[in-house]
Amino acid sequence: MNHDIVVIGGSFAGLSAAMQVARARRTVLILDTNAPRNRYAAASHGFPGQDGRRPAEIGAALRADLAAYPRVAFASEAAVAARREWKGFVISLASAGEVTARRLVLAYGVRDTLPDVPGLAERWGTSVLHCPYCHGYELGGQPLGVLARNEMALHQAMLLPDWGPTTLFTQGAFEPTSEQRQALAARGARVEATPVTALIGASPALEAVQLADGRTIPLAGLFVAPQTEPSSDLARQLGCATKDGPTGPYLEVDAMQATTVAGVFAAGDLASPMPNATLAAAAGVLAGGAAHRSLVFDPDLASAA
Ligand SMILES: Cc1cc2nc3c(=O)[nH]c(=O)nc-3n(C[C@H](O)[C@H](O)[C@H](O)COP(=O)(O)OP(=O)(O)OC[C@H]3O[C@@H](n4cnc5c(N)ncnc54)[C@H](O)[C@@H]3O)c2cc1C
Repeated sequence: MNHDIVVIGGSFAGLSAAMQVARARRTVLILDTNAPRNRYAAASHGFPGQDGRRPAEIGAALRADLAAYPRVAFASEAAVAARREWKGFVISLASAGEVTARRLVLAYGVRDTLPDVPGLAERWGTSVLHCPYCHGYELGGQPLGVLARNEMALHQAMLLPDWGPTTLFTQGAFEPTSEQRQALAARGARVEATPVTALIGASPALEAVQLADGRTIPLAGLFVAPQTEPSSDLARQLGCATKDGPTGPYLEVDAMQATTVAGVFAAGDLASPMPNATLAAAAGVLAGGAAHRSLVFDPDLASAA
């Protein structure tokens, strides 16, 4: 086998996993296509010690830390196929080569599919946002909206008034009950049933949303829950089980980030219903350590025989 461990995806989760492997003095290869999920945002918030830095800067700092370890290798390569072979795994690369590993850490994140409303996609990460904890503070006090895709929007509309006066656009996705309306009203949130047909203003800033009946509602930020799916098919090829999450499927892992396939660990957004850079990094720490311990305590991958 070329490497003790191959990590597929070199962002918050993957680089944190690789650090544990590197510090265990094992060989680790990180395959990465350099398209982290938060690349649309000008600044990342809430990651300890890095609040407000550009996502690319944080990635560069994490890679620089790892580059100090001699048994770490990086390749700007997409993994396109993975299979179990003997006591390890074979990973096919987009460039047509192959690498082998005794263990795998999958950390390739998820893809977002956004609601198809004119003007929405171009504002993603600036004034159209997924998470108030990540980006709500910067919009604080200004009028905010939640664009519903399903009833989950209610939860966000209940939270959002702490960041600014809130309108829930139900968008035909669901009809709040009278109890839910009362709860929203108690939080000061308005409900608007007329669909949003466009976002307007000097993009990527948002000034208002246009409604189907011609009215415009001034807004500085619109929160949406995208639909998500894993960025790659590799886990399915390996036979890893998935679970249904609030925005899409994610990989089933145990408390140490082991997937349902022996020798394959997973961390970050593709293996969690809670997308967050710090949580992804923490899961990466668990996955990297668990993959290393598996080399020690199950060297022949007997549990998968
Ligand atoms: C617009 C936006 C803003 C956000 N802002 C914040 C914020 O401020 N604070 C916060 O805590 N969270 C934020 N998040 C969430 C955060 O981006 C994710 O939780 C975090 O990036 C997950 O890290 P990850 O390592 O799991 O995956 P990612 O960061 O998405 O990284 C996955 C990596 O795998 C690579 N990859 C994919 N497929 C392959 C393949 N086949 N082969 C090789 N490499 C591959 C990708 O190129 C990428 O580099 C934001 C999300 C969005 C959408």
